[in-house]
Amino acid sequence: MEDCIFCKIIKGEIPSKKFYEDDEILAFDNINPVAPIHILVIPKKHIPSVAHLEKEDEAIVGKIYGVINKLAEEMGFKEKGFKVVVNCGKDGGQEVMHLHFHVLAGEDLCKKFT
Ligand code: 5GP
Ligand code: ZN
Repeated sequence: MEDCIFCKIIKGEIPSKKFYEDDEILAFDNINPVAPIHILVIPKKHIPSVAHLEKEDEAIVGKIYGVINKLAEEMGFKEKGFKVVVNCGKDGGQEVMHLHFHVLAGEDLCKKFT
């Protein structure tokens, strides 16, 4: 999608620090982290939000959780734990309308975001 920041990151038009990439999924560093580790995991398909998921998109959500688990293992925060946050729409505080999964780790997050 032309005006979407995350689609531009996927196309390489906006630089990002990538942690994982395949044909369908990209994981990259958040430009404005709120935890020591703050990764964004996104589908390459432009899906605006959770509320826009179609039946055909259900598999990609499962795959995204697979990538999150892989990153947790590889980056060493699987054992201590982490938080996955998905904002949806205006009341959910979503600012970028391209579905994304915040992966937060590296500190005690128990009292944050819940
Ligand atoms: P939201 O509030 O929509 O759930 O989260 C959007 C996230 O995207 C924010 O945490 C923000 O820091 C991040 N973000 C916005 N623009 C950019 C960008 O150009 N590059 C990167 N890496 N992250 C961005
Ligand atoms: Zn997009």
